[in-house]
Amino acid sequence: MTLTEKILARAADKPNVQAGENVWVKADILMTHDVCGPGTIGVFKREFGATAKVWDRKKIVIIPDHYIFTADSMSNRNVDILREFVKEQGLPYFYDVIDDPDGKWVFDATQGLLKKQYGANFAGVCHTALPQKGHTRPGEILFGTDSHTCMAGAFNQFATGIGNTDAGFVMGTGRLLLKVPETMHFRLEGELRPGVMAKDIILHCIGEIGFDGATYRALQFDGPGATSLSMDDRMTVANMAIEAGGKNAIFEFDAKTQAFVDQRCRANGTKENYEPVERDSEERFVYETTIDLSRLEPTVACHPDPGRRKLAKEMPDTKLDRAYMGSCTGGKTSDFLEFARILRGKKVIIDTFGVPATPEIVRDLQTTLWDDTSVWDILVNAGVKMTENASCSACLGGPVDTFGRMNTPLKCISATNRNFPGRMGHKESQVFLASPATVAASALTGHITDPRDYLG
Ligand code: SF4
Repeated sequence: MTLTEKILARAADKPNVQAGENVWVKADILMTHDVCGPGTIGVFKREFGATAKVWDRKKIVIIPDHYIFTADSMSNRNVDILREFVKEQGLPYFYDVIDDPDGKWVFDATQGLLKKQYGANFAGVCHTALPQKGHTRPGEILFGTDSHTCMAGAFNQFATGIGNTDAGFVMGTGRLLLKVPETMHFRLEGELRPGVMAKDIILHCIGEIGFDGATYRALQFDGPGATSLSMDDRMTVANMAIEAGGKNAIFEFDAKTQAFVDQRCRANGTKENYEPVERDSEERFVYETTIDLSRLEPTVACHPDPGRRKLAKEMPDTKLDRAYMGSCTGGKTSDFLEFARILRGKKVIIDTFGVPATPEIVRDLQTTLWDDTSVWDILVNAGVKMTENASCSACLGGPVDTFGRMNTPLKCISATNRNFPGRMGHKESQVFLASPATVAASALTGHITDPRDYLG
């Protein structure tokens, strides 16, 4: 069995499963957020009763992160619905925007968009917050009401996005009927060269198979190249499996996985025991390829879908209006460090927005000093509009007052993960997906630029 099949077999209490088979699996974690949470709660109450209790209080994680820092009253109200449900059910893992469990969330637009407006429990973007807060564990099953839930496959777990109806059912029963996906095998060899990042790996893979090339399939990444990647890098790769239609992505378990997961579970007091899955000689794949990481170059996914692959060096004629750094894919600490390495001591010449994925990342950037200047200040000095309000922000457009949203038909190079028409706002805007390094170099020139021209 492949890694994915092994996890599903265990969760289904079966000795083995085969691709195409339907199995009932037990969930280890159900995550929801402010956009889908109210709908999921509605389904749960409709189907199980107004006074029903969730199947396991400690296995539900609720993370408001999408439409948070907006004066849109309906969006603010969504966070209040989550808070009321958490109080009613006594759920321990709710990463609220405010500290008062009896309060109401109202974004204060008069304070502007840059200075933080959240309390001590706020965790930021769900997929980045889940591992930071100790909710991702090898060998487990994570369901989330968000398509990029597949990011947690970086931790050797089966993680996939589900709709509100399925999530309402999981909330009541802890189980879900799943078809076992076929597995595509991506063996990674070699190591990335300077100026080439994990984002380039996944943009390369999606370019190979197309934006629907992995529909309802598992993407297994392994080999020495996968082992060479940091956990942040593995998260970037796994995050975008869905951009090729994938059901999930999965990496092998190793010492890096163990160190990250153990430290985070211990620090946050979450469950510490887990059972990883390992490869064996009986794996059957529906597709196999080997990628030499040392041969990859800075890559761009062009408008209007993530499979439109080109090399950055082929696109000097693509003029840009905007650059955007952020999201679960491209808003991690390591992403911002690469971004800053290229911008340090220089000035961007187009509107450039920086949105860290979580408050922890904001703190990292504000406390990491390079020659007595924080990375945060290096970016601000380079002309980047940095916000402390860690969230999804303009990654998926959002209400019109969302930080970085494209309200006119602009061309933007972005470290985010999705570029279908209208994704970041105006439906005639164009989004070019690239690594943080390529976004930085392009912000300096105003057109798509190979970052290797700017390496120190
Ligand atoms: S940052 Fe973007 S991709 Fe990630 S969860 Fe938020 S909206 Fe989705």
